Amino acid sequence: MDQRRFTKNDSGFVCGHCGKEVEPLGYTSRNHCPFCLWSRHLDENPGDRASECMALMEPVSAVPDAKKGYIIIHKCTKCGAIRRNKAAHEAKVQPDNLSKIIKLTAKTL
Ligand SMILES: [Zn+2]
Ligand SMILES: [Zn+2]
Repeated sequence: MDQRRFTKNDSGFVCGHCGKEVEPLGYTSRNHCPFCLWSRHLDENPGDRASECMALMEPVSAVPDAKKGYIIIHKCTKCGAIRRNKAAHEAKVQPDNLSKIIKLTAKTL
């Protein structure tokens, strides 16, 4: 039994949307897939893994942020919760797909 995901937030996962294997970021907990940018509703507050929803979250928009680069806005496909997540397009391992993020910036909620 794999205990790691219970003790450490920054764990790898298999994307529930595109099925690709996602590696841990190393410096912060990765909460969305770098390939398709979909997320999963795991947190009530960032990183706490307290949500029991567990449904997939669709990337619905993105906004440029002067300090953080880009913020990706995810909407839960089940409960409709909105989450704002920092993009990891500058990560060394599996950076977020920047062209997909830029396309999202053209969308509005
Ligand atoms: Zn994916
Ligand atoms: Zn949800």
